[in-house]
Amino acid sequence: MKLSEVEANTKYLTPRAPSTFKKAYPTVETIRVEMRPVGEGFEPFANMTERLEIYNENTFPAIIDCRNPRCYGGGLQLDHLIRWSVVEAKQTEYEKTIWCQGYEGSPKGRSKHGPCDTYFTVKVSVVYIKKLHDGPHAVSTHQDEMSKGTGYKPVSKTLTRTLEVAAVDIGTMAKMSSEEYQTYLRNTFIVDHHGILKSGAAGYPLAVTRAQAKALIGYLTEISPTIGEL
Ligand SMILES: [Zn+2]
Repeated sequence: MKLSEVEANTKYLTPRAPSTFKKAYPTVETIRVEMRPVGEGFEPFANMTERLEIYNENTFPAIIDCRNPRCYGGGLQLDHLIRWSVVEAKQTEYEKTIWCQGYEGSPKGRSKHGPCDTYFTVKVSVVYIKKLHDGPHAVSTHQDEMSKGTGYKPVSKTLTRTLEVAAVDIGTMAKMSSEEYQTYLRNTFIVDHHGILKSGAAGYPLAVTRAQAKALIGYLTEISPTIGEL
């Protein structure tokens, strides 16, 4: 039993719909979360010295479950942390190490033996939508409307991107578990809240319209028989 089950909340790695983030965080333009979990079950990916998971506004999970098999109710309430400690506090850069909130005990949690040793170092960078003028036209906006000069522009904060997860070598990818590969995919192909499919590493667009998305999927299907055939 882990935190997400206890909370009956979002499952690990379930991406939220792009529109959901905008509704939940109307003041936020983009968000980047670096999460370094340390503890049993969070071993680094092959060829890496530490385990690093990178999320954006569409991919960060509400809850990260602890993977210590003896931990009861353990994990990190990432969405809660981002909402209250970062966004509500108007932080643009935030870093904190948080102990797992579970405790080690018997499988059904009947006897407690002590706190869990797992901890999570979380680094969050936020770019807010900045409201420059109040007035009758002061409604929440996004990139497309910004170019029309409605009085909003994003806080000019450079979002640094590291390639630690997005760019892996062939040997590392070959050794990835299917779960690790799923994480890799979600960090590599991102649909932003404008509905644009982007490369998470380089930030360039891959598909902007649904027709382009279909063409991309068709092309991947076409070439898939040639992948992995050595
Ligand atoms: Zn734990």
